[in-house]
Amino acid sequence: MKTDLQIAQECKMEPITAIAAKAGIPEEFVECYGRYKGKISDKYYNQIKNNPNGKLILVTAVNPTPAGEGKTTVTIGLTQALQKLGKNAITCLREPSLGPCMGVKGGAAGGGYAQVVPMEEINLHFTGDLHAITTANNLLASMVDNHIQQGNDLNIDTRRITWKRVVDLNDRQLRSIISGLGGKVNGVPREDGFQITVASEIMAIFCLANDLKHLKEMLGKIIIGYTYNDEPVTAKQIGADGAMTVLLKDALQPNLVQTLEHTPAMIHGGPFANIAHGCNSVRATKLGLKMADYVVTEAGFGADLGAEKFFDIKCRKAGIRPDAVVLVATIRAMKYNGGVAKADLSNENLDALKKGFVNLEKHIENIQKFGVPVVVTLNHFVADTEAEVAFVKASCEAMGATFAIARVWAEGGEGGRTLAEKVLETIETKENNFHTLYDDNLTIQEKINCVCKEIYGAGNVNFSAAAKKTLAQIEQLGFGHFPVCIAKTQYSLSDDPKLLGRPEGFEVNVKELRISAGAGFIVAMLGDIMTMPGLPKRPAALDIDIDEDGNIVGLF
Ligand code: ADP
Ligand code: MG
Repeated sequence: MKTDLQIAQECKMEPITAIAAKAGIPEEFVECYGRYKGKISDKYYNQIKNNPNGKLILVTAVNPTPAGEGKTTVTIGLTQALQKLGKNAITCLREPSLGPCMGVKGGAAGGGYAQVVPMEEINLHFTGDLHAITTANNLLASMVDNHIQQGNDLNIDTRRITWKRVVDLNDRQLRSIISGLGGKVNGVPREDGFQITVASEIMAIFCLANDLKHLKEMLGKIIIGYTYNDEPVTAKQIGADGAMTVLLKDALQPNLVQTLEHTPAMIHGGPFANIAHGCNSVRATKLGLKMADYVVTEAGFGADLGAEKFFDIKCRKAGIRPDAVVLVATIRAMKYNGGVAKADLSNENLDALKKGFVNLEKHIENIQKFGVPVVVTLNHFVADTEAEVAFVKASCEAMGATFAIARVWAEGGEGGRTLAEKVLETIETKENNFHTLYDDNLTIQEKINCVCKEIYGAGNVNFSAAAKKTLAQIEQLGFGHFPVCIAKTQYSLSDDPKLLGRPEGFEVNVKELRISAGAGFIVAMLGDIMTMPGLPKRPAALDIDIDEDGNIVGLF
């Protein structure tokens, strides 16, 4: 069997200008980054902004196994399939981070015959957006420390600086550090730390910005820390908002690439789906909706994290609405949720499948709570048996959910025809009453309760003393109307990765609340969430190499 990289390398790509032409973009609006990547100029959006919107299809999934369940693969495959049916469709995806690329083997450009290309470049430096975000983030950090070094007019409490430096690698050594050592000319020593770039609030802001002006406004509102009098200090007070916006101006234009079947794909922005909202930029999605009749997009992790945030944060803030949801399930994820060990997932096990199906059932019910029609798709793996597939199909249909099998990994767009037909039929015939889960005017505590109880299935939500203190501070600072962004494990509907299936009535503990004043949401931490991952014992980087002719090996 060919690897993802071999399949991608065999693709005879079309020049990016040809892909743009196919998407209807005049050449003057395409900034080429080499032959196969481009950025779409802001001017193009302004030109077509009065076009009617196309249909927005969100791809989400059940709780994942540690391997990923194929959301990106299905997102790309569905777009390829829509093209086969003669539809004008575009994919919108997140940009990969280098941390996981070098850490745990696995790319973020799809798989098998449903990939975006040039996949090596997309997975490596791409068009430099992540570098721009890293630099903007670190500019702010350097200006904060310089402000303190130069006399600290703002009276910043060096023990309460919340703004961290970032790097786009998994480097646990930098999680907690002491910076500014070496005497008077070398800064003011303080406890400091790094996060991975995708965890930066700038990434979340970048993905929620409508345009440059909006970007600058949001950047200015970032809280970098607090004064000795407990007052927040913003990036605007530091004076960094203008220069940060300058550093991000090119990055803010959506990137255009192609799928293996030469359909257009935009890959832009990539925030975490726990401490941030986990989906590609609003700019790419809005541009896609003006350009194409169908936009297929992905939200990170399972539907409890990704889809909920897509609806309650992205759709709410950007004023967009989904027309249908494709819920990706895999037999192995359901068996995993039914208690099967990772090594045994390839063996037929109908009992475990039945036991784990309740996880899918809960996600179907959850999507229905937002009023959007849902199509369940089984991402087919070679080890899936006929009996297992028949069981899932019958169980979904018994719940009144539309079901389609997807063989896009093995067959590309051709393997997604049935899925595409069912999605089109759903959009045309099923009622769509999309609404967010909660209203802006509930309190932060009520919003957190609502998501934990309605979506996760929690019985009780406990707030730590620290979280209660921050709740009061949030009200006092006037951020009570923000939506909430809950950070928890992706492996369970609960906050305990070991509680698989469909746990009910469990307790969750809100340990800490963080104010993302620039992005405009409150992060509620259920447990410890890592914002700077470490490398595993055997990092993927050990196998990555390049030959004299520039051919990369070992990347996926
Ligand atoms: P997600 O977006 O849910 O994290 P991806 O689409 O990135 O998942 O897929 C994760 C990995 O699983 C990729 O390496 C991909 O090639 C592989 N994969 C996806 N679907 C299949 C399938 N049907 N059979 C085998 N491997 C698959
Ligand atoms: Mg993905």
